[in-house]
Amino acid sequence: VKSGTKNDYLVFNKTIESQSIERRLLESAMRTAIKENQFYLEYQPKLNIDTNQIIGMEALVRWHHPDLGTISPGKFIPLAEETGLIVPLGEWILIESCKQTKKWHDMGYSDLTVSVNVSVRQLEDPFFIDKVKNTLMKTKLNPKWLEFEVTESILADVNNIVGILREIRQLGIQISLDDFGTGYSSLSYIKNLPIDILKVDQSFVKDIHQNEESSAIVQAILKIADSIGLQVIAEGIELQEHVMKLSNDGCRFGQGYYFSRPLKVEAFEQFMESLLVT
Ligand code: C2E
Ligand code: CA
Ligand code: CA
Ligand code: CA
Repeated sequence: VKSGTKNDYLVFNKTIESQSIERRLLESAMRTAIKENQFYLEYQPKLNIDTNQIIGMEALVRWHHPDLGTISPGKFIPLAEETGLIVPLGEWILIESCKQTKKWHDMGYSDLTVSVNVSVRQLEDPFFIDKVKNTLMKTKLNPKWLEFEVTESILADVNNIVGILREIRQLGIQISLDDFGTGYSSLSYIKNLPIDILKVDQSFVKDIHQNEESSAIVQAILKIADSIGLQVIAEGIELQEHVMKLSNDGCRFGQGYYFSRPLKVEAFEQFMESLLVT
């Protein structure tokens, strides 16, 4: 048994009851956190892997709690989705990331596309489109530089959201299917949903250089995407071997620790500068 921290204790002694207490504590802490600005965004660069040029960044939310320290999105996003708190939180994330992107454009980094993760709960919010329009108006960001990442596995009921995805696209915003390949109906999604980009899940990238199946799956995705006019980006690129294999197979865009971890604003700016000088 692992020893030490309070978190370990929670992990190894979870009863149903203690779980629900923990969840309720977390939920109320999250409400406070929204009011007290404990959330912030990091940005992970997306690159053209052939030219090493930056094409944009994914906004990833972070929670810095005054006592508990940094809490990972893997822990609080699912709860935010269940409780509906993702709606106000997601609204803040959208505004903040559009504002920041407009700022970078105005600084001269004018070709950056920002990718924002949008949960199905947000898509089901009847005011979502209005909120998006308002954000674009207030921040003056051209919608062609905005992309929404929607996770494939959670799009259980496609019929409910296909209309809203169309409206989003009509605004000029691009739609990317996140974690592509991990859901049960990946192929029917690309047939039935209005999407622009497939984001190949990290699980396929991880062993693409040494596993025939992963390699064949990614090649098949690239082929299909090419023939129906979708773009492809690979996520979770950690090794030079990943880059070489992907590039060789004709994948042009990528994201992952090999290029950069998600960065705070200042570090992201330093990263962009370092690309300019090299
Ligand atoms: P995701 O959208 O699939 O995001 C990719 C995750 O992979 C991020 O974890 C990122 O930091 C991590 N990652 C990036 N490059 C690498 C790599 O090379 N290797 C490995 N092993 N991991 C890499 P993060 O930031 O912890 O986010 C986890 C998940 O939480 C996200 O998965 C997304 O589903 C959700 N999330 C994060 N931010 C937001 C947000 O603003 N809104 C919503 N709705 N969900 C978010
Ligand atoms: Ca994502
Ligand atoms: Ca993903
Ligand atoms: Ca994910």
